[in-house]
Amino acid sequence: MTTKIPIEISARHIHLCREDLDKLFGSGYELKIKKDLSQEGEFASEETVTLIGPKNTIEKLRVVGPIREKTQVELSYSDCFFVGIDVPLRLSGDVAGSAGAKIAGPVGEIELKEGVIIAKRHLHLNPKEADELNLKNNDLVKIKVIGERGLVFENIVVRVKPNFKKSAHIDTDEANAAGLGKVCGKGELILE
Ligand SMILES: [Zn+2]
Repeated sequence: MTTKIPIEISARHIHLCREDLDKLFGSGYELKIKKDLSQEGEFASEETVTLIGPKNTIEKLRVVGPIREKTQVELSYSDCFFVGIDVPLRLSGDVAGSAGAKIAGPVGEIELKEGVIIAKRHLHLNPKEADELNLKNNDLVKIKVIGERGLVFENIVVRVKPNFKKSAHIDTDEANAAGLGKVCGKGELILE
């Protein structure tokens, strides 16, 4: 039996903490929801910022809400080459000692000491879905993508939380390598 997993593609984006949102957009600023994302409560906001690197600048870097404890920028390897910064592959939230960058908003700028990561590919599951698949938090799984550029994504980290919904998240480089669509695709879960 094969289990189909929806695959969603995370384009580059930034999560902001309260303090950085204030500095970039003004004191007490509230993000405006542009589009709800698949994971409950998460949304793409109307707001964008500029990331200024030593080699190049990325304009219109989308802010994903709601605000978080810590500011975090998620880029692809291609973005990092373009910008000219060396960025580690990390799980979301694991930002200690990661890369820094200069970020500009309409009101001000911040110099991030750390927080820039390339996000590890991961699979969101709620506890019921995890039970059904006999998986637990931090397990590693593989997902096979069928098609002309079909491939197997290894080392997908399982993330289990009550408000999660079954969906694998990969970045734009990974999606392009597999010839997936712009925002989503499907894969088959390989359990060993
Ligand atoms: Zn995710």
